[in-house]
Amino acid sequence: MEEGDCVFCKIVNGEIPAEKVYEGDNFVAFPDANPKVEGHCLIVSKKHFANVMDMPASLGGELIDAIKSVAEIKLKEGAEGFNLVMNNSPSAGQIVMHAHVHLLPRKKGDGFSIIR
Ligand code: AMP
Ligand code: ZN
Repeated sequence: MEEGDCVFCKIVNGEIPAEKVYEGDNFVAFPDANPKVEGHCLIVSKKHFANVMDMPASLGGELIDAIKSVAEIKLKEGAEGFNLVMNNSPSAGQIVMHAHVHLLPRKKGDGFSIIR
């Protein structure tokens, strides 16, 4: 499943280049083009789902594996922790309508804040 004008579908199929930091059967991860913190990455489903409500629960385990793989890389690179954010629908801030999870590496005192 692919949507003609979807930027993340184009990254998944190689039409738009991206520096992939992780690739599995159903998910890929690459740096966010406008990082909110150093190392900010997006974990993106290879199939086009609009958001988490479209995704089959059977992909949940692979999504966790993808998150942990990217997090391990970021922790090795010096992050001390990380936030996961998923915007679902424009009213929640979703701009790219292709399901993705933001992984935001964190360090104590970095000044960034999501909830606290
Ligand atoms: P959102 O839909 O609000 O969860 O965020 C979409 C994210 O995708 C934003 O943080 C953008 O900076 C990022 N983004 C948009 N286009 C690209 C691209 N071609 N490569 C990497 N990141 C992108
Ligand atoms: Zn797409």
